[in-house]
Amino acid sequence: MTDWPCHRCGTDNVLAVLRRPGTWTNLSGNRVRVVHKLHLCARCDADDPLSGPVVEYLTADEARHPGDVTRLAWDLLRWIDQARPTKPAENALTAEIDAWYRGDLD
Ligand SMILES: [Zn+2]
Repeated sequence: MTDWPCHRCGTDNVLAVLRRPGTWTNLSGNRVRVVHKLHLCARCDADDPLSGPVVEYLTADEARHPGDVTRLAWDLLRWIDQARPTKPAENALTAEIDAWYRGDLD
C-alpha cells in the first residue's frame, strides 16, 4: 500500500501509482508538461478488465505459483501501455462552474 489515498474513493487501498508524462493546455493556450499519476486501487480497479488481473495478483494470498510472475509481468505491461488519465466529466464540471457563478456552491 502507498501513503496516498485513492483519488477516486479516498481510501488507502492504492497498490501502485503509475506516472505518465503528458501535456496540458493552460488558460493562456500554452501546452505545459505534466505528470499524470494514475492510482491502481484494490477497491476501484478490481473489476476493471485492464487493471483487475494486476489487483488480483497483488492482493492474492501466498498460494501463487512461479508462473504467476510471468503473467503479472504481461498484465502490468498491458496496464501500463493502455492506462490513461481520466478526463473530468464535462457536465459535472459545467454544473459546478454554473453553481459557483450563481453563488450556490457550498
Ligand atoms: Zn479507490
